[in-house]
Amino acid sequence: IPSKLPNLPTSIFAEMSELAAQHGALNLSQGFPSFHAAQELKDLAAQAIQNNHNQYAPMMGIQELRIAIAQMMQSQHSVAYDPMSEICITAGATQAIFTAIQATIFAGDEVIIFSPAYDCYEPAIKIAGGVVVPVPMQLPDFTIDWDLVKSKVTAKTKMIIINSPHNPSGALLQDADLKQLQQIAVENDLLILSDEVYEFMVFNDHEHLSACRYPELKERCFITGSFGKTFHVTGWKLGYILAPPRLMKEFLKIHQQVIFCINRPIQHAVANYLQNPSTYQDLGKFYQRKRDLFLNLIKDSRFKFKPSASTYFQLLDYSSITDEHDYAFAKALTINHKIAAIPISVFMEGRDPKMLRFCFAKEDEELVAAAKILNQI
Ligand code: PMP
Ligand code: GLN
Repeated sequence: IPSKLPNLPTSIFAEMSELAAQHGALNLSQGFPSFHAAQELKDLAAQAIQNNHNQYAPMMGIQELRIAIAQMMQSQHSVAYDPMSEICITAGATQAIFTAIQATIFAGDEVIIFSPAYDCYEPAIKIAGGVVVPVPMQLPDFTIDWDLVKSKVTAKTKMIIINSPHNPSGALLQDADLKQLQQIAVENDLLILSDEVYEFMVFNDHEHLSACRYPELKERCFITGSFGKTFHVTGWKLGYILAPPRLMKEFLKIHQQVIFCINRPIQHAVANYLQNPSTYQDLGKFYQRKRDLFLNLIKDSRFKFKPSASTYFQLLDYSSITDEHDYAFAKALTINHKIAAIPISVFMEGRDPKMLRFCFAKEDEELVAAAKILNQI
């Protein structure tokens, strides 16, 4: 049959995880924690099932969870979202992103994304009939040249997708970036989709500036987050989307058709767990310790790096080891050295900065074992 996405390969995350399993390699490729979620959170999920919260949830999600998210946004960013009209619970950020794009992008609309870009944006835009306009981020620091962005805006541009904290680089948009974005969005009447799934994994004196802090961005912006990331439960696929009512109204029309509502007992568990803000506020410190442990152990290796400012990913530059293409090098590392990472060229068509992405959301012993291997390469 004719394919809607004729050139779409299997996701690199599935491919590398599978290769790692096949060769018994340490898997630092796909982004998920190897350690367990908090006992308290697991108990809350079990209790929710025992307490018979097992039927359909309201379409936007249970009220307790929407209220808890509004409180979280208020405490983190001093910004108000109305739980009744501006917050919807989703099946992870992936469904939030897909749904927001289907709800707003018409055939021929252009959507600007920044490459390297997380891999779920482009197919969703194409399925909607939209046109992907990639803007390469500037290396080595993965920054955005806003003059270049301005030069890519046309009468057909409908949306700009941002991702800060950024996967795979850990780069964070700064105040000046968001102000430039706001100006471009207002002048050209654009929508913004802000993927903030790593919002709480921010290190040292860096700060996550949510798009919601900029009032003229907020009023034209979808923001998505992921409890899978924040609470070490990627398999729960629980996330949320925030948007002003005029955007939420259209989002819900698609949401209703895509999934209608989300797994109910885990919504109860997360709503209860969120009552204690330290459950998310301590995440930065938790991952910073893992990052520092990993980087300290490989500081004398032949890999070069700048410590990641955020996310649970660290890019390692291998240019002093080989000039092999990153995809070939990642496969060779997995097969011959038993350590798997993600080649980042797959997210940035035509460019190969000789960097691999390593996920440090792993047990300390695994990070020690990974460092031992990397020190021998
Ligand atoms: N956006 C980015 C940048 C991601 O790295 C991920 C990966 N988990 C997602 C969205 C999807 O999140 P979820 O697992 O909640 O669907
Ligand atoms: N977000 C995860 C990553 O960047 C992957 C999720 C997935 O496998 N789709 O590794």
